[in-house]
Amino acid sequence: MTKDRSEDVLGAMLRGLRGRCPHCGTGRLFYRYLKVSPACEACGLDLDRYPSDDGPAYFTILLVGHLIVAPILLFPIIWRAPVAIIVPAVVAPLIGLTLAILPRTKGAVIGLLYALRVHREDAGLHTADRAID
Ligand SMILES: [Zn+2]
Repeated sequence: MTKDRSEDVLGAMLRGLRGRCPHCGTGRLFYRYLKVSPACEACGLDLDRYPSDDGPAYFTILLVGHLIVAPILLFPIIWRAPVAIIVPAVVAPLIGLTLAILPRTKGAVIGLLYALRVHREDAGLHTADRAID
């Protein structure tokens, strides 16, 4: 029985989300906080080939903004409490959450690019790059 293509995409994204190689799920995807390993230490896949660019930052802002910031603004205490208390109480957890989510979204985006076979060499297909040529 062959695997469904959507299972491949979801599996690769989940492996990336866990910070693992989207191909084998064993090797580490990052060698530092957001630095992608040049190649998988387990299967040798060229991990640097998948350009996540601004995608992870966009999805992180989308998640934090819609799931955390917007609901927080609904609580009246946010508007009534002194700024000196509210800003550190809200901003510090937001920064922590953002820093926690960002590598996961980057891993998921790299997993998606791997599953869809989008490589750095495909950047020439981008319409903005064609305008320069
Ligand atoms: Zn691997």
